Amino acid sequence: MQQPQKPIIRRSLAEGLLSCVQFKREDGEQLAFGQALHSFIAAYILKCQATGEETRMTDVAPLASEAWARTHGLQWSRWEEFLELCTHFADTHEASLSSLLRIEHTFTHDVGFALLTCTVDRLDRADAGDPDELPTNIQISDWKTERAELDHDFQARWYSQMAFLAMPSVDLVVFAVHALRDWWKPEPYIFRRGELSLWWDTTLNALRSRLDVPRAAPVGGPACPGCAKRYECPKATAVAGSIPETEDQADEQFQELLRLEEGIAVRKEGLKRFYSGHAERVVLGHELGFLTPREPRLVITVRPLDLVKWLKRKRLGGDEVLKVDSEQLSGKRLQDKLIEGGVAKHEFSRPSFKWRKHVPARDARRQQKKEKETNVSS
Ligand code: SF4
Repeated sequence: MQQPQKPIIRRSLAEGLLSCVQFKREDGEQLAFGQALHSFIAAYILKCQATGEETRMTDVAPLASEAWARTHGLQWSRWEEFLELCTHFADTHEASLSSLLRIEHTFTHDVGFALLTCTVDRLDRADAGDPDELPTNIQISDWKTERAELDHDFQARWYSQMAFLAMPSVDLVVFAVHALRDWWKPEPYIFRRGELSLWWDTTLNALRSRLDVPRAAPVGGPACPGCAKRYECPKATAVAGSIPETEDQADEQFQELLRLEEGIAVRKEGLKRFYSGHAERVVLGHELGFLTPREPRLVITVRPLDLVKWLKRKRLGGDEVLKVDSEQLSGKRLQDKLIEGGVAKHEFSRPSFKWRKHVPARDARRQQKKEKETNVSS
């Protein structure tokens, strides 16, 4: 008699199922974009490996073109953005061939009730050991095209445990997320062999119990934003149900947001005027009106240096209370001097979701500056 086939569970599906049995992974355009980029990166690094070179800028355009052409489900108007990202990747990542073990490598593990899999983007040995010997420390690199600070904890654990199971020589795994669009890097996850055992057993127990009741009711939660059923599912979280699918929908929502924002500002100002002549009240569980802060704030009554001296005299530290107020150093000439003197530098803070006025002239200036810098360096 033929045995029923075991379900194949990828990491992303497992993460969704644990949250909601009815989860169905969405295969949208955004996913296709990420796949095309992964496909380019794999081809690019393999090309570097084949030629024994750390960078192959001349191959970026043809490899990007091939990766784009073979990926289905893409929004064709994003080609420029894609090419720019491929170039940015090649510009900022050397192939690091001496430590490279695998590219796009799939780990598979049979747990009886299912076949578990995951595909790591890149695997390196991290112990600088003899290439003829099996590695004891490895690094898993994961390329991310999203900009939001998403939670990668489950993925880090799943990938690392799968690596421990498949590679008996490995004692330590570093899981590093690479945010491809930005300069910042999230902190890597580091796991030692055995550290994930309890988590793994718990996860497998939970997964098995979810698969035992495939008709269980949907439960709205963290899986909803990536679920294909989120628009029609009555249990989908409010945010998941409102994520736009296309640029047109996103534009429409933004228009609505600007209107709402304006409405809030008007309401706030009206209420402020009203309460300027009335005592504060409790309305709908909120204190409303001109409210004195709940706690008084501390006001230092001496100069900062006198405070530091006083703290040091009392052996209470001191340097940590000194914080440079960069607002006071906003003059360009002074800033240039500070940078020249090696006591300051300019840097961008992390990108965050927001909006601001579009000033075309400023963008043009920035583009001109960029082109000038590129011409000088070439
Ligand atoms: S949208 Fe519905 S089916 Fe999908 S994960 Fe959320 S609750 Fe479950």
